[in-house]
Amino acid sequence: MVDRRDVTARLSQLVMTVDEYERLMTEALPHLLNHATTQTRRFLRETGQWGDDVCHEKLALRWGYELVERFLMYGRTEIPCRPLFFLDSLIAKYFSQPEPFCYDKELLSPLGRFLEGLTSRAVISRDALMALFYHLYGFGQSQVAKVLGLGTTETQRVYKNFERWRRSGWQRAVDEVGITREDLMEIESHKRRYPDQFHAEADRLSRIVQAHYRKSEPEHFPCLSRQQWAHLFKEGYGYDYRVWHLALCRDCLSEVCDVHQDDSQDVLTPQLDLRIRPLLNGRLVESYHSVDH
Ligand SMILES: [Zn+2]
Repeated sequence: MVDRRDVTARLSQLVMTVDEYERLMTEALPHLLNHATTQTRRFLRETGQWGDDVCHEKLALRWGYELVERFLMYGRTEIPCRPLFFLDSLIAKYFSQPEPFCYDKELLSPLGRFLEGLTSRAVISRDALMALFYHLYGFGQSQVAKVLGLGTTETQRVYKNFERWRRSGWQRAVDEVGITREDLMEIESHKRRYPDQFHAEADRLSRIVQAHYRKSEPEHFPCLSRQQWAHLFKEGYGYDYRVWHLALCRDCLSEVCDVHQDDSQDVLTPQLDLRIRPLLNGRLVESYHSVDH
């Protein structure tokens, strides 16, 4: 008999290899199904669509199955990942699609969808998470490593994250949320023609999106005070905390930049400076669809 708490704990930890993932999935399938069904029930209750009868129980179970099926299909391509975390983000995405109940209407504009797409991808992909620092603030790899206070090994990983993102990750993220070449052009033309208005809008929308996706962080990753951040960096712990939270919280990122400034490192300020496309070999990445001709 597998201890339930043990399985839940392992599902929340980082899975590094496909073998490890497969083994865990065989063992954890009933737990995943139970988790997905419980989340579905909660969603139906919260949106006033629940009734205490067999018919609703069946519906929750069916959706639970469907969600776990999707999870099994995509999970393997997301390794290294935290399985439970990834499942939760799939569930959140699933329920927010047909009626984006938790969203501001403006998030349906090309710019809103672009920001939403990048951030929702960041919840399940470390490459996209690292790329957020570039797309939102224009930080390069070495700047990201500096802000996050990473050691040599972690810094190398950041370089790999950036590389993969530029080569394929960005395109995939853009495609996945259905951003077309026209959408990209519309965003870029808006940015060029009305820079102030564009900046204000990107600033406001990115805050809404970040606040929404912070909810999918593990519960033990809340905002910290300046003193707490300073302590965390000084003592050299909480790497996951730094990466996850700072990519999704501009206020804490500002605090952390201030803390570094006190330590008289090079000053960086997280001013919003939205970049639509990544740079590859010094050139902006074009969408595949636009190089057909
Ligand atoms: Zn915060």
